[in-house]
Amino acid sequence: MPARTMRKRFWTPNGLFVTERVARSLPIATNRPVLPDQRGLFLFRVDADLYLKEGQEAFLILAGKYGIKTTWFVNIGNYLESPAGLKQLLKDDLVEVQSHAFRHQVYSDKARNLDNLQQAEEYLPARPVKGVVAPFGVWNENFQLSLEELGYQYSSEFGLAYDRAPFYPQINGRESIVLQIPIHPVCAGSFAYAGLPVDEACRYFDRVIKMKYDQGVPIILYGHPNDRKVEYNRRILAFIFERVASLPGARSLSFSEYYEVCRSSAKRIIGAVIKSGERPALLPANYSLLTKVRWLVVCLFSELKQRILDDLLPPGGKWIVLNMWKKMKGLIYRG
Ligand SMILES: [Zn+2]
Repeated sequence: MPARTMRKRFWTPNGLFVTERVARSLPIATNRPVLPDQRGLFLFRVDADLYLKEGQEAFLILAGKYGIKTTWFVNIGNYLESPAGLKQLLKDDLVEVQSHAFRHQVYSDKARNLDNLQQAEEYLPARPVKGVVAPFGVWNENFQLSLEELGYQYSSEFGLAYDRAPFYPQINGRESIVLQIPIHPVCAGSFAYAGLPVDEACRYFDRVIKMKYDQGVPIILYGHPNDRKVEYNRRILAFIFERVASLPGARSLSFSEYYEVCRSSAKRIIGAVIKSGERPALLPANYSLLTKVRWLVVCLFSELKQRILDDLLPPGGKWIVLNMWKKMKGLIYRG
């Protein structure tokens, strides 16, 4: 059974929004590990779909500046063409590399999921590979069964759950042995896709980070180093890292370290101390009513585009429509 998902809106403090396809409802789990207070704990998941030099460097430089550990889930099939990309990751002490499968795909049957994950293992440097993030955050029981068969320790899919404590998913009426580590499902790219300004994204993440810190739960965020809007992405990521570094007692952990903490909850959470920084300044919003209405229209169009391209059309159809759109735009600009 695949997890039931739906496109949901995530609101900024100014009443604008971005959307993401996530779990329709969060599974009730009585089996979640009971963890001690995790205030100030920060995990950053990097979904490395393909190698983009400038994007990858921006992530590594920023993380290095604050001493923040990052876990890179690499879609290795796409990284093979650029060995320099993987080499750079392996040289960085703050980086952990795990799997984002070989092909950027999740299948409905176990055989193809097994094949996709095993093929990734052949090329990934981690021995053994401990964790995986399913492409597109898609989760189904056969995917989870494949993880069990290959001996993975944890995975992370917002198509199954987000913004909640780690737990062992139910499959075939029993508890899985592979831990699910949910994250917050919105990233800088969500704002780039919606076409919203950087400041609005910063205000959004400021609130998410503060809320998680005040609740004493870990702050687990993610990003894509291959997003084409490198500078846009970099500015939001810089804000996120600065904001986390301004929290008293902020520490970072890799996903595998966090798994170890969850596995034996008695263990004290230590983590690497994040170099403390100043709380970054936020520009005041001061939107006029007209500006706000204009941005809301932008949000609605972006949602409509995603509903059609990502939710309704199959991948082939998506590319046909995108190409048509590009040609139309070309005609309009030339005209
Ligand atoms: Zn991906």
